Amino acid sequence: MTIATDFRFDESALREFRTVFSGPIIRPGDATYEEQRRVWNGSIDRHPAVIARCAGVADVVAALRYARGAGLIAAVRSGGHSFPGQSVCDGGIVIDLGLMKGIRVDPMGRTARAQAGVLLGELDRETQAFGLAVPAGIVTHTGLAGLTLGGGVGWLMRKYGLTIDQLLSVDLVTADGEFVKASEDENADLFWGVRGGGGNFGIVTEFEFRLNQVGPTVLAGPIMWPIEKASEVLRFYRDWIEEAPDELTTIVVNRKAPPLPAIPQHLHGKRVVIVACCYSGSIEDGERAIAPLRKFGTPVLDLCAPKPFVAHQAMFDPSFAHGLWYYFRSCDVDRLSDEVIDITVDHCMRIESPMSGCPIFHLGGQVARVGENETAYSGRGAGHTFNINGITTDAEGFDEERTWARRLWAALEPHHTSVYVNFLMDEGEQRIRQAYGPKKFDRLRELKNKYDPANFFRLNQNISPA
Ligand SMILES: Cc1cc2nc3c(=O)[nH]c(=O)nc-3n(C[C@H](O)[C@H](O)[C@H](O)COP(=O)(O)OP(=O)(O)OC[C@H]3O[C@@H](n4cnc5c(N)ncnc54)[C@H](O)[C@@H]3O)c2cc1C
Repeated sequence: MTIATDFRFDESALREFRTVFSGPIIRPGDATYEEQRRVWNGSIDRHPAVIARCAGVADVVAALRYARGAGLIAAVRSGGHSFPGQSVCDGGIVIDLGLMKGIRVDPMGRTARAQAGVLLGELDRETQAFGLAVPAGIVTHTGLAGLTLGGGVGWLMRKYGLTIDQLLSVDLVTADGEFVKASEDENADLFWGVRGGGGNFGIVTEFEFRLNQVGPTVLAGPIMWPIEKASEVLRFYRDWIEEAPDELTTIVVNRKAPPLPAIPQHLHGKRVVIVACCYSGSIEDGERAIAPLRKFGTPVLDLCAPKPFVAHQAMFDPSFAHGLWYYFRSCDVDRLSDEVIDITVDHCMRIESPMSGCPIFHLGGQVARVGENETAYSGRGAGHTFNINGITTDAEGFDEERTWARRLWAALEPHHTSVYVNFLMDEGEQRIRQAYGPKKFDRLRELKNKYDPANFFRLNQNISPA
């Protein structure tokens, strides 16, 4: 194991940094170093020289200035859920915003402010106290910051759009250490860029969102059939969602049924096709909308029922636990054509790991109504987002799962349209370009030239300056 103490390190600069930084500064050898250098994806094993856990905006500015002065490469970490582990580095500094947990909900004005260290479940808890919500992702322990900066797809998107579609403003520290605000009226170019352009332009310290009415009880949950029925189920599903109201967002998951208390034991480990539903309108309307799906074939399990939105939000949490080894391949497709379905089913019949799977998000609705050029996020016209994941407990069997994920992704290649930037691994500039499309990528590059010409923020899905 290489430890960051090998790095030639300016101790005097660090001493000075300690005098202006109020949060914990963690170095190799410190009691919490091992825990703090870890990120969600257990296959990532990096050793930063310094982990600066910011207590507030002043710390973010101080950490950034210190990193620049000391010539350290910087990783910016909020929730630590980057698939390829871009929020931790070898030898540099991790500017960690995970302690910045402030949330303020204004139920009358229907807005919320959330600091960068907030996780999705923490924001939902505060907003749902008033029956309000920001559309975000599907796992409660995901970081709000990284998710928002890439776009944000989730259970409410067909009704209320992507997370960025409800974003009103951000507070951001630029590569020069300058504090700026960005909104439609202030630094509008930057506001366009942070809505999909990731962490390329600065460190966001706080987000302001518009809130929408949701639940707090929603009709939601999974309906499950054996994988042998997947071909028929997916063909039915494809036609059924053509007419789906915006309130209904569904995610198809092909995997082995997990050994969870809600799932009968005889199904554990059996390959299944799941349609997970979330209806964000009235329960009665939801029952009507979901009825045809419930009646199709003979589901082996139907857990779609009225429940608190926050409970539904946590449904996938156990499937994506911290510290497992994860590998992802993603792509968008226009529609679930017969060929796309056949490829998917064929490969999912061969899933070996009890944890691997293939979630397929249904987009459309409000996501597609926002103009493609209104934000940096790309691929609003896509019908579905594939998020193929190969998962193991540790290194054992990981290569095989990675191969499985790659093969399914490659078989779908003729049908790829775009790719969601937050679902990329470290796949190189070509794929980032593909994620944004050439025109948008060039526009993002111009913005990068303006806000970060030295590419200080480069541990990300990088838009290198022109
Ligand atoms: C279990 C799981 C479930 C997911 N589900 C969804 C989902 O439903 N919908 C969806 O859209 N995405 C989902 N994602 C993908 C997710 O959006 C990205 O992984 C996102 O980067 C996570 O944000 P984070 O703050 O946790 O990440 P981090 O690892 O902390 O950061 C990722 C990157 O974002 C940038 N960044 C982070 N914080 C800041 C900041 N404050 N300022 C500037 N840049 C910053 C940095 O470049 C950093 O490298 C999921 C990921 C996981 C692991």
